[in-house]
Amino acid sequence: MAETIALEGVEINSSHYINGERVGSDETFEVFSPIDQRKLGHVAQASTEQVGDAVSAALAAFPAWAALGAEGRKPYLDRFAEEIGKRTEALCQAEANDAGLLLSRLRHGIIPRAMLNITYFAEHALQLQENVIETKQATHRVRHDPAGVCAIITPWNSPLMLTTWKVGPALASGNTVVVKPPEWAPLSSSLLADAAHAAGLPAGVFNIVQGSGAVTGAALVADQRLARISFTGSVPTARTIAAIAGANLVPASLELGGKSPFIVLADADLDAAAATGALMYRNATQVCLAGTRFLVAESVRDEFVERMKDYVSKLRVGDPRDEATEVGPIIHPRQIEKVKGYVERAKAAGAQTLWGGGVHSAGELYFEPTMFAGVGPEDEIVREEVFGPVLVLQTFADDDEAVRMANDTVYGLGGVCYGEEAHATAIAEQVRTGFIWVNSFGIRDIAAPFGGRGQSGIGREGGEWSFEFFCDIKDVVIPK
Ligand code: NAD
Repeated sequence: MAETIALEGVEINSSHYINGERVGSDETFEVFSPIDQRKLGHVAQASTEQVGDAVSAALAAFPAWAALGAEGRKPYLDRFAEEIGKRTEALCQAEANDAGLLLSRLRHGIIPRAMLNITYFAEHALQLQENVIETKQATHRVRHDPAGVCAIITPWNSPLMLTTWKVGPALASGNTVVVKPPEWAPLSSSLLADAAHAAGLPAGVFNIVQGSGAVTGAALVADQRLARISFTGSVPTARTIAAIAGANLVPASLELGGKSPFIVLADADLDAAAATGALMYRNATQVCLAGTRFLVAESVRDEFVERMKDYVSKLRVGDPRDEATEVGPIIHPRQIEKVKGYVERAKAAGAQTLWGGGVHSAGELYFEPTMFAGVGPEDEIVREEVFGPVLVLQTFADDDEAVRMANDTVYGLGGVCYGEEAHATAIAEQVRTGFIWVNSFGIRDIAAPFGGRGQSGIGREGGEWSFEFFCDIKDVVIPK
């Protein structure tokens, strides 16, 4: 049976949450902190049967939850958000300790956003049934009906943000959910279950099954009773899930990795671009939307490099629980081995190290913010997502080359473009990604679409796009 996990004044239940109750498992898995690799405790590992129980509970709860209507669901969801807010300190401890996320970002950014992810969709679901199309022949009442049981599968790099981003619209539009949290960072999801319980969400509406991807995740996506699968994670896992979703004809939303361009045009405010460039190392670049391929106009290359190097040298690398820290640890020994492998192979292939390049003195799982130049378009370090603080810098001669280089990737998630505003906007419009920031980075308005092209994913979530995914659209046709 799983235990509770004690963290700096906080007790976290490490069992599942199924049909409104805590349920343990005979099997457990160990969770470690990336801060210092200390063992945090054991978390229950759901069996295939327990996953089936969670889907059954969600299926049983679905008709009554759907029948409440958006107005009836809103008070529950507002309370859910309030209960998340009440757990701010516990959530900070959970994600700083198991995911290595920055405490400052959690307290001031991620937790308020997690609450908004619930309240925003609860509010906006009120307008879901107001789509009416009038033609000569008929009135079309276009309904957004809830789909049923939704599987929510999230990665370790920002579990609370990504889980609430999906759970908010799924529940607000009348679905019930089974969440499979990431096994390297499972603790905040357990606190979400406490919040859902305290908010009085009816049993079965919100369920959590902890466990590995290979056992628990695989059992969940294989369940033929699912109405939707919303997945954020890596390309290989997405291929596995998409094959099963395809066989079962279950719509799947896939938010995947990236190798996003960070373009610096010759007419850019170089200081602003360099300051933003240094932010790419936040969360040790374990951020899907970070710009990781720097494409810099030849004429300003040296000055930009000097300025960015200066900003990077001032970054505080260390314990994410220290509010002054800007770059925390890499999540897991396996992940840092992957990062080291990319770095060694890049060096062996002749890449020039502009800064960084090795393990940081803060500890075994900390890696120096690193930048490589002297790389070619076919190099592994230019083409593959590292998911660690290792960036590459290339130069371009003119706008056409900048756009060509930006688009020379199998990915298409995000991008950044610094330059005189009209110029930068014109370039940004030609870059093939799901989103791109002009003279800025990281603005994620909840009403705006989010998702990627190519191997960065299928589908969009955010605002009305979330409702399009989590609902079945029905046209009720009334002739005139
Ligand atoms: P991952 O694909 O290894 O795991 C993601 C989740 O899928 C985990 O919960 C895991 O347990 C589960 N899983 C694994 N195998 C499964 C299976 N066979 N069936 C069902 N579930 C399974 O990804 P990760 O390493 O946790 O996350 C890093 C990746 O996520 C990076 O590629 C990153 O770019 C991407 N990411 C994308 C976004 C986005 O919004 N586009 C956001 C964050 C992270």
